[in-house]
Amino acid sequence: MTYDFDLFVIGGGSGGVRCARMAASHGAKVAVAEEAAWGGTCVNVGCVPKKLMVMASEYGNAVADSHGFGWDTQPGRHDWAKLIAAKDAEIARLNGIYKRLMANCTVFEARAKLTGPHSVEVAGNTVTAKHIVVAVGGRPIPPDFAGAEHCVISDDVFRMPSLPAHIVIAGSGYIAVEFAGLFQGLGAQVELVYRAPLPLRGFDEELRQGLAEAMAAQGIRLHPGRTIARVEAAGAQRRVTLDNGETIETGLVFSALGRQPYTKGLGLEAAGVTAGAYGEIHVDETSATNVPSIFAIGDVTHRINLTPVAIAEGHSLADRLFGRGPRKWDLDRVASAVFSTPPIATVGLTEAQAAANGPADIYVEKFTPMRHTLSKRPRKTLMKLVVDQATQKVVGAHMLGEDAPEIIQGISIAINAGATKQDFDRTVGIHPTAAEEFVTMRTRARVAEAPARAAE
Ligand code: NDP
Repeated sequence: MTYDFDLFVIGGGSGGVRCARMAASHGAKVAVAEEAAWGGTCVNVGCVPKKLMVMASEYGNAVADSHGFGWDTQPGRHDWAKLIAAKDAEIARLNGIYKRLMANCTVFEARAKLTGPHSVEVAGNTVTAKHIVVAVGGRPIPPDFAGAEHCVISDDVFRMPSLPAHIVIAGSGYIAVEFAGLFQGLGAQVELVYRAPLPLRGFDEELRQGLAEAMAAQGIRLHPGRTIARVEAAGAQRRVTLDNGETIETGLVFSALGRQPYTKGLGLEAAGVTAGAYGEIHVDETSATNVPSIFAIGDVTHRINLTPVAIAEGHSLADRLFGRGPRKWDLDRVASAVFSTPPIATVGLTEAQAAANGPADIYVEKFTPMRHTLSKRPRKTLMKLVVDQATQKVVGAHMLGEDAPEIIQGISIAINAGATKQDFDRTVGIHPTAAEEFVTMRTRARVAEAPARAAE
């Protein structure tokens, strides 16, 4: 059978674009469909604009910090509209770059949907392909409490005409804590409402505790162990009622309660592709679905929802289908960062996860970073190594503090290469940096053991 294309990619985000581009570079005849802006969530309503906003928020504190260094700088007024216009211009530039990357592909700027194992309906036509890759990503989960229609989700906050003076954020995952820090840094009063005792479930407990302290020190009002019962609107004003009856008057309620795969109406049933309860497409380690001609990469598979993972999966798949075999990626120990204030970065096992595998040596440093010895801003840096006691391999590294993402990226190479604590110890540090603490931790803070083991 002859097909219109060797490969049809549904979704022009980070994963889809990489997969299409690499397949075309291997000589495949490729088509890509994107219904919205090129670059997907990361470029348009995610990582990139968020990080620009985090950078904007850091200047507010920098003015106060500079006084400790002898400057008499005066705080200015932040112009939200100017920031959004600058951010939009940069995103438009990136959209153009992403679209140009598709120069060797047939591009459909329309929604595509599966109609069979080898067919897709797009822009009113049915086209066929030998292989189809679904790379449609995810969408924010709307809240289900009363008055949800009076709330915004992360897509909306990138387009707000102005920054409200007071903001309530629901949730304490990546998005909630990142925006809590940046909105507070830009001058809003933020209140964070979350059901767990500490933010960032799944992260190392000590980091979670450190982040809660840092957010409180920044002035964010924390409401742990709480959920929103309802939201009422009166004009632009919102009244939030928590599950304990407490009420908060605010200008904006931002719901950041997770994201789900964007597979509704995508034709999965027509093509026979199986998906889970959240609409996540089930795939194996080669990104293959249960239908041999259909693959899925990135957030639509709802495993590790991070841009570089989607890119790795897309690249690897294109190499395997059309190139000289897949490029190898290590997806067991993927480093990740949370651009909270200050940021968090982490790679490998938490203390609790390591202890579940056997006794772990724990090394911790908590200190005032050099900048804040003079700025007097109450801010601590926390650095932690988790070492498997039996092998002495460093199985986890965690940091809360300035430059954490930049530092942990390098540490993750050592951990992926199987470095031991002794390898860290014989590495000479760079002075004076925070990063050098990772190679100068000499005194073990404690031995972590699984609760059952500890009780024996
Ligand atoms: P997360 O899954 O990280 O967090 C969801 C939050 O919502 C948690 O605090 C969760 O609480 C809470 N929650 C979920 N359901 C309810 C409910 N019914 N009632 C009350 N609270 C609820 O989602 P995000 O939206 O923050 O981010 C989505 C994904 O996007 C992340 O998982 C991440 O993969 C990706 N991302 C990555 C970034 C990065 O790499 N820096 C930045 C932003 C997003 P609980 O913990 O108690 O379950």
